[in-house]
Amino acid sequence: MITYTYLKNCPICDSSDCNLVINTKDDKLYNLNLLKESNSLFNKYVDVPLKVYQCQKCSFSYLNPRLSDESLNRLYHDLYQTDYYESRISNKEHQYSGYYKIIAKYLKKDAPALLDFGCSTGIFLGIAQKNGCKVMGIELSNKAAESAKSKFGGNRIINGSLNEFKNINEKFDVITFNNVLEHLDNPKTYLKIAADKLSQDGLIFIVVPNFNSLKRVIMKDKWSLLLHEHINYFSNSSMKYLIKQHGLQLIESGSINHEVLDTSIFSKVKNKQTPKKSAPGGQKDSLWKLAFLALITDLSGILFNQGNFSYYLIKKVP
Ligand SMILES: [Zn+2]
Repeated sequence: MITYTYLKNCPICDSSDCNLVINTKDDKLYNLNLLKESNSLFNKYVDVPLKVYQCQKCSFSYLNPRLSDESLNRLYHDLYQTDYYESRISNKEHQYSGYYKIIAKYLKKDAPALLDFGCSTGIFLGIAQKNGCKVMGIELSNKAAESAKSKFGGNRIINGSLNEFKNINEKFDVITFNNVLEHLDNPKTYLKIAADKLSQDGLIFIVVPNFNSLKRVIMKDKWSLLLHEHINYFSNSSMKYLIKQHGLQLIESGSINHEVLDTSIFSKVKNKQTPKKSAPGGQKDSLWKLAFLALITDLSGILFNQGNFSYYLIKKVP
């Protein structure tokens, strides 16, 4: 059975002054509907519309209700059974090299210790190791963690999440959260633990979807990053609030434009091209319009530095 968790207050600042800003209808859930077409495993997840609330005090946005921890873990398990994640990592090597270049400018030591939280199969760890870092990773998915262990050794990859993170008894020069903070219940707890595990002059690097991206503002509830598994939606102002809350200091931030050309919409258009008696022609036309809009907003995001993702490089205040 799929179960949900309801939040009363903002999970970042605890304010109860939060407004509903997105309320989808279930037919607009492109991500899961796409999977639903090819795999009945996902039928059970599309019943409830996605509602995003925005806090009026710190501007953080969050899914409410969201899948309970147990149901969310089951969704990840189901997604890992398909090629959903595999199909999305084809150009990750290039993306992650870009992330590493941003961090490398600030690394002063030889062989810095780097921890990647949510390391998946270890693509980013591989790049960091090639560049001389001593690496460690934490990954929730058994399947992905096993793959990472085969590359970096069983003692450098931990299969787990919050508790395992808490229990690591090492200090790190860099801790990275590459596209993971949007998935984690209670992101401020993770940031606090990360801050505690930093060495002197240590850095935290975060990449998250940008809730204020031009694409999200224009596509509204058709934004492709509005997903059941994305329970947190950050903007520059809410991320800055979170950073300050932990006595950390932002040293560099910016816009990243991967996922240019919206793959979920384009796959959907491609699917609809197959003649189906039941598929009305009108729907095909509007999907092409959506795909065109996605392309225009991606290009504008690049021009105006409000891309679909943002990165933040943070340090401890001495
Ligand atoms: Zn708040």
